[in-house]
Amino acid sequence: MSKEIKRIAILTSGGDAPGMNAAIRAVVRTATHEDLHTYGIESGYKGMIEGNLTRLESKDVANTILRGGTILKTARCEEFKTPEGRQKAYESLLAFDIDAVIAIGGNGTYTGAYYFTREYDIPFIGLPGTIDNDIYGTDFTIGYDTAINTAVEAIDKIRDTASSHNRLFFVEVMGRSSGFIALETGIASGAAATFLPETNWGVDELMVLLKKAAIRKKLFNIVVVAEGNKSGTATELAKHVKDNFPEFDSRVATIGHLQRGGSPSAYDRVLASRLGYEAVIALQNGIYNKALGLVSGKVHFVDFLDAINKKKELDTEKIKMLDVLAM
Ligand code: ATP
Repeated sequence: MSKEIKRIAILTSGGDAPGMNAAIRAVVRTATHEDLHTYGIESGYKGMIEGNLTRLESKDVANTILRGGTILKTARCEEFKTPEGRQKAYESLLAFDIDAVIAIGGNGTYTGAYYFTREYDIPFIGLPGTIDNDIYGTDFTIGYDTAINTAVEAIDKIRDTASSHNRLFFVEVMGRSSGFIALETGIASGAAATFLPETNWGVDELMVLLKKAAIRKKLFNIVVVAEGNKSGTATELAKHVKDNFPEFDSRVATIGHLQRGGSPSAYDRVLASRLGYEAVIALQNGIYNKALGLVSGKVHFVDFLDAINKKKELDTEKIKMLDVLAM
């Protein structure tokens, strides 16, 4: 049953992602337009437990659309995983008369929202904010596009050195359990090979590739490796090549946290703005306790449980293409 929503609280949780501020801005501006009040919760669920809420008005989000990170800060909070922690969080929301919460984050954030909304009658809407793009129920997550662009830009620079010195660079990109960033980065940077957690590419395949390259006297190249690649990290793969293929001068570059930061891309700003706007409209229309995303460009809702448990698969056609184009 829908209730009148007058005060909305918003938080960012888990890893920060570029575009989170654009989503916060869109929520605040849409809420203001609809005569609702918005409260920013600082540091995710931690701030919810501690009652760290502040009124946000339109002017408070001015000049934030271009800023990376999150103006609300984010945190990992073990206490929210306990019923006692969630009870404290509920009491804080009651103290501020909060009618609904918009939580921006990844799978963990959605899991927290799922448990909370099973126990208490304050509705949540989840927005997908993570660079990894590993959330079911949306084609893109906020921050993913920027992260890929950052990785590609870095690899373009590494490629200059690689070709000048005839070096083989193993570049590690983020993605502990999913290869979304690595797949797009591999395609866009024209990598010779791309190692994903989802495929079973190993050193044998790499050796075949390098032998072919050596025949063509191409001793420089870029190999993209996802953090969670099962056949070895970028460092391990590079060592293997060094031991077995000394004619290749192999080096390792880890892009690491650079991928999280920076000004969001235009795509992420638009995505985050749309999702923030739609989240407020959804709450007004009585759509509660759902994860909101875009599928084929259209607004899409899924239950938290589906968003948490169902796996978003990589596009197998793209994986095929990656191999064809890399040769
Ligand atoms: P990212 O994908 O960037 O890592 P995330 O949202 O998955 O983002 P997590 O650190 O896994 O990041 O989760 C964020 C927060 O959500 C946790 O710190 C915790 O407060 C809450 N959370 C995670 N799992 C649970 C759970 N099982 N029960 C209740 N709350 C949870």
